Formats: sequence, structure tokens, C-alpha cells
Amino acid sequence: MSHNAVIIGAGVGGLASAIHLSRMGFAVDVFESASVPGGKLNEVRGNGFRFDAGPSLFTLPEMALELLDPDLQFEVTRLPLITRYFWKDGMILDAHSDADMLCAEAERVTGVPADRLRNYLEETAEIYRLTAPVFIFNSLHKPENLLSRKGMTALLGLHRLKAFTSLHDYNRKKIGHDRLVQMLDRYATYNGSDPYQTPATLRVIAHLEHNLGAWLPDGGMYTIVRALMKQAERLHVRFHFNNPVREVVTEGNRISGVRTSDGFFPAGRVVSNVDVRYFYSKLLPDTKKLRKLSKQQMSSSALIFYWGIKGNFPGLDVHNIFFGDRYREEFTDLFRNFRIGSDPTVYVYISSKIFSGDAPEHCENWFVMVNAPENVGQDWPETVKSVRKSVLQKLEKVLCVKLEDKIMFEEVLDPVSIERKTGSWHGSLYGPSSNSQMSAFQRHANFSSGIRGLYFTGGSVHPGGGIPLCLSSAKITASIIKREI
Ligand SMILES: Cc1cc2nc3c(=O)[nH]c(=O)nc-3n(C[C@H](O)[C@H](O)[C@H](O)COP(=O)(O)OP(=O)(O)OC[C@H]3O[C@@H](n4cnc5c(N)ncnc54)[C@H](O)[C@@H]3O)c2cc1C
Repeated sequence: MSHNAVIIGAGVGGLASAIHLSRMGFAVDVFESASVPGGKLNEVRGNGFRFDAGPSLFTLPEMALELLDPDLQFEVTRLPLITRYFWKDGMILDAHSDADMLCAEAERVTGVPADRLRNYLEETAEIYRLTAPVFIFNSLHKPENLLSRKGMTALLGLHRLKAFTSLHDYNRKKIGHDRLVQMLDRYATYNGSDPYQTPATLRVIAHLEHNLGAWLPDGGMYTIVRALMKQAERLHVRFHFNNPVREVVTEGNRISGVRTSDGFFPAGRVVSNVDVRYFYSKLLPDTKKLRKLSKQQMSSSALIFYWGIKGNFPGLDVHNIFFGDRYREEFTDLFRNFRIGSDPTVYVYISSKIFSGDAPEHCENWFVMVNAPENVGQDWPETVKSVRKSVLQKLEKVLCVKLEDKIMFEEVLDPVSIERKTGSWHGSLYGPSSNSQMSAFQRHANFSSGIRGLYFTGGSVHPGGGIPLCLSSAKITASIIKREI
């Protein structure tokens, strides 16, 4: 096999794969259909405002930093307050990064003894220690990993993961208080899942935030992409932007290259960073694979308003959540009825609270998001209109201000545009959801079992979506390739 590799897509998984493979001695070419790198991790600019377009919360920053030469590493700030939660009746809860402060605040606001939440968080740390080496940092599809000591320890401890209890039921049992349960249930949305269906194993996400910390790179989330790009370029990775791969070409059961509008490009190895369902429907059509993949429910998508807002809102922090009253119905609507309900939970992220350059003076950059279903052909222009109205009503009521008059800049991202811009299947943010006990085992592997030299990285394959997991997928893929050379 020739010692060159093609990466399809310059999302975080693709960029990280390019860096790994180049360090392993491969000549690497990255083909990207967009004009810029980053995929879902991107930014929007206009009227003096800058917005992080996709991800806004950064956990496990070391996974990105370890890819970079020391002089290319960026500064990260640990947020002292991770999220400010608002309920309609005026209740506000500050979720501090420091676990002790969070537990004290939870006791003050809800009356739930601090120890109850502290015990919960301590237990999530233990579950993370047990599961991460097997489910996050290694391939689940290589028997030797499951049969390793760590693999066996995790399998023997399966009953502790509570994979057969829903996250919501677990939280109710352990915490008891409706509002704290809602706060902890929300972690299911961090990989686009439904807390009423997803296994309680996902409580490890609370551990990432409250025990390990939530971070922001200096300059905003897109700093991660800039740094990965610089590193890749330093390693002589060649980038081909505005150059979508049209077809993946095989010879028998071996990869031979890719075809773009410029013609055939030979490659000994191909790593796909595009959504795996898009891959098997467009780049290497395979109806059998597609049928199998279609059995997995997709994760949720999002509807985002990027609002340049005139004025400063000292009552808001960087990350703010305005909960809806009927949380269970919100998820029934998303995953069963494929619609956004009338009272959705609203997330407002304001990076200009930390980076003043992200908005003109006396203004703020609001990233206003509600969870949305995958795109199955809904009337999105109508949905955007009605959701915009209900979001404004909700925020105006809590903040006691006529918000609409303060919007100086507006751009909208919906599931259709997410799909169009990034190739993500039905616009879902994290590939398949984790709404069943078997989800972790059903995700596509980081390699092809039928075609030699073909690999997969990014949010739609193992171990899943979100920046740290995509970076982990790139590392797993690279380690599989390393073992083969
Ligand atoms: C609104 C939103 C909010 C999010 N919030 C968070 C968060 O707070 N924290 C977090 O960790 N994660 C979050 N995520 C998820 C995170 O952004 C993704 O999991 C991650 O960025 C996906 O990276 P990826 O490697 O899978 O590649 P993608 O980002 O999916 O990129 C794939 C790339 O492939 C390119 N491509 C597609 N087809 C082709 C082709 N034929 N040829 C060449 N190139 C092609 C696309 O243009 C794209 O650049 C969020 C995502 C969104 C959209």
C-alpha cells in the first residue's frame, strides 16, 4: 500500500486525523467541500459581531492541546460558573464549576441536602473511571480491547453503569427534587439524546463538567480549529478546500483512492470524516450498510438564532438555560413527533461576556438555541417563524425587556442548513443518538471490516459526537492504522 492518506472532511475529527497520520509519516491530503475548515465547529461574523456557530462548551481540553506543538497551544479559561439556570417562576440556580459550591447553591435554592448531589457527582467520577478507557478511548470493535484488563473490569462492573435504567429515572431516584433532576437530565442533550430514554450511564457527562471543568479557549471555540490547522500545515498536510469528494474508489476489497471534480486521486488509505450515513449513501453506496445504520435513531438537531443585541445584560452569564415547564413532552416532541413544542427550553450563550471583542461596545452576541428534531422534511421556514416568536416571548418575560427591538444583527441556522453545510445526516448534531442501551455498541466502527485501507472518524462513528469524542475517534483510528504498518 502506498504511504499516502486522504482525509475526507476537515471537521475536528478530520483535522486531528491529518495531524496523527502525518506524524506517523504519511503524506496527507485533506479534501473539504466547504471553503473553510471546522465543519460544525465554525463561526459567524457580521455587523461587528462574532459568534461561535456550533459548539460552545469545551470539556477535556487536553485532548486538543496534546495534538499541538507547545508554541501552537492556546490558552483555555476554566469557567467559574458553568451555567445559570432560569425557571419561569423566577427561580435561578448557578451551576458553579466547583462541585462544593454547586452543591451548596443547590441546597440553598432547592433545599436538597448538599451531600446528596455531592455523592451523585462522586459516583459519576467512578463511573467515568470505569467506562472511559473502554467506551471512549479505545475501539469497541476490536475484541482485544474488550478482553483487556480494563475491558473486563468495565464489563464486570456493567451493573453499576445502570445501562438498563433511564437517566431520568436514575436522577429521580438519587436526587428526588424536580428541578435538580431537570438540570441533571439536561446532560443527555450534550450528545443529542433523550433523558427519558438514554441509559443512566450518560451521567458521566456531569462528571466532565463539574469534576473536570468546562472551558473556553481564548478567542472562542474556533481557536481550536485555527490551532489544529496551523499544526497540520506545519506537518505539511495539504488542504484542498471547495473540493468535495464525489466517490470513494476501491479495487476488490482494497481502497484505491477518491474521485473529486478534479479527477482521480490515488490513496493507500482513506479516512472519512463525513457522516457515515452520508458516506454509504453518496460516496460508496451500500444499501445493506445503510439499512443497518437506519435502525439507529438520529440525535437531535438545533435551531439557532445568532442575535447581535444592543445593550448589556448583567443578569446573564456566559451560558444560560431557560427551562420549559414540560420537559418530558419536549423530548417526546423531538424524538417521536419530530417537532419543536410550544415551550422549548432555550439556551443562550454569550461569549462577549468574556471576549469583549466579540461584540461592539455596549452590545452582546447572543447565540440562542433550542433543540430541534432531525430534518424529516418539516416546514422549516414556518417553524423558524413560530419558534422565534415563542423564544422572544419567553426571554422577554424572564428578562422584563422588549428584546426584539434590540436585535441589530440576525442569522439563523436550522437542521436543513446544518445538513447542507456539513453533510450531517438530517442535520443531526452528534450522529446516532444514545437513546438505547445498545447505542454504544451499534455505532459504526473506526475502520471498515470489508475494505482494507478505509477508516472512519468524527461524531457519527465510535465513540460519538462532541469535540472530545471526535478527537478520541481520530486517535483510535490512528492507533488502528499504526498497528497495521
Ligand atoms: C449547533 C451545535 C452545537 C454544538 N454544541 C457542542 C458543544 O457545546 N460541545 C461539543 O463538544 N460539541 C458540540 N457540538 C457537536 C460538535 O460540533 C460535533 O460533534 C463535531 O464538531 C463534529 O466533528 P466531526 O469531526 O464529526 O466533523 P463535522 O463537523 O461533521 O465535519 C465534517 C466535514 O466534512 C465535510 N464534508 C462533507 N461531505 C464532504 C465531501 N463529500 N467531501 C469533502 N468534505 C466533505 C463538511 O463540509 C465538514 O467540514 C455542537 C454542534 C452543533 C452543530
